[in-house]
Amino acid sequence: MGNQWTRVGYYLATLLLLVVMSQACGQSFEVKGDLLNTNSNRPSHGWSSCHANTNPYPVLSSWSDHYPTPVRADDCLTNSFFNLCLTYKDPVSTYGDKFSPAFTPASATPQQERQVFVYGVRVPNAGPLTNSHFSMNTTNFAAVQPTVNGDWKHPYRNDSNHFVAQLHGWYWVNWFRSYLIERTGTFFASADIAKKKLLIRPAATHVANNAYFDSRDYSMSLGWSEYNHDGHKADLALDVATVLHELGHANHYIANPSSIDNDYLSYSCYQDQTYCCVDKYGCPAAIHEGVADFHAKIAFPDKDGTILNYFFNSPQGDQWRDLDRIEKNKITAHDLFARTNKGEIHDMGTVYASIWYGVWKKAKANCSEAAIEKLFVEHLAGIGGSDNFITAFSTIVAFAHQLFPEKAAQIIADFKTEYARMGLPVQ
Ligand SMILES: [Zn+2]
Repeated sequence: MGNQWTRVGYYLATLLLLVVMSQACGQSFEVKGDLLNTNSNRPSHGWSSCHANTNPYPVLSSWSDHYPTPVRADDCLTNSFFNLCLTYKDPVSTYGDKFSPAFTPASATPQQERQVFVYGVRVPNAGPLTNSHFSMNTTNFAAVQPTVNGDWKHPYRNDSNHFVAQLHGWYWVNWFRSYLIERTGTFFASADIAKKKLLIRPAATHVANNAYFDSRDYSMSLGWSEYNHDGHKADLALDVATVLHELGHANHYIANPSSIDNDYLSYSCYQDQTYCCVDKYGCPAAIHEGVADFHAKIAFPDKDGTILNYFFNSPQGDQWRDLDRIEKNKITAHDLFARTNKGEIHDMGTVYASIWYGVWKKAKANCSEAAIEKLFVEHLAGIGGSDNFITAFSTIVAFAHQLFPEKAAQIIADFKTEYARMGLPVQ
């Protein structure tokens, strides 16, 4: 799968030991019954336990507005308040188990759809899905429009136009932009800063078992997965953690264009050992992968696994990127480096993501995690093409002093603790 592209993808030839762990935290809202009209469109704070007041009547008034967090509504598909029903994180996470057979347009049943599309929001009645931040490529199929009922509740079964993929890719990308701006004030990857619109390819039908960010044309391609190799292709646009991972690459790239290393990111360590980190201290491509995974994790901290749950049809997803499992099992940078393909950049990215997650989780315990998110987003500008985990620590220290002079000592101490946990002591 290597080629000349500036590609940040993940490659599949991988692993799958299933260690299922459940951790349910945070809160979700259930909205039952038919809700009447509301003008409420307050920004919400997602699922953070510190901000549990999720708006039960989320409304998006225009495609350019702040995208509110969809709310749990088990009757979403029949509830007339909501005109769009989404999955939260991915179909497997929302359903709470793997599917047998996998949940795909070829195999989805109406009952499964009622179980999966249970996060509702009210959005504008008409398309197209467009705004000044992002654009969507629908070259190979029809752009999504409302159903004959005037809502956006398209079935996933037989979804040859990938309407559901378009809606998921569009909504969650915009939601995460809104979320990060609300929490940190900064989102690099939208057009106001990037000076170009990120092109979302919600159903890159030529991309098998992969999704990637491409800096050449500033696009993210969301392909399909066929985990069971039974001919049932699933749209990866519904694997929202993966979507936000690719968006994370875009965010880091715009923050610091030198962070993209063409050689490392165009080829895979599985194909050629040249394209791996050389030691447990990491490399720029690994930092990019870890940054991307951390984007995905803070969006959905209350669900099992970190990434690729839908891809693998598993609540744990990729176990070597499952940040809760990494911490629980005391897995270190050495362990991650020593896997079959020594220094593979996604394995090594887990080192960096795990360090940030450890600090973030500690802050979340006292409701100060938004400060860590601010530090995270801003520090991306200082991470470039010659960094490893150790030099990145110096960048973290510098940004902590700049952004939070009064808190910096504690934040830096917390990072030292997490670096040490990963077997990478820093001073
Ligand atoms: Zn990646």
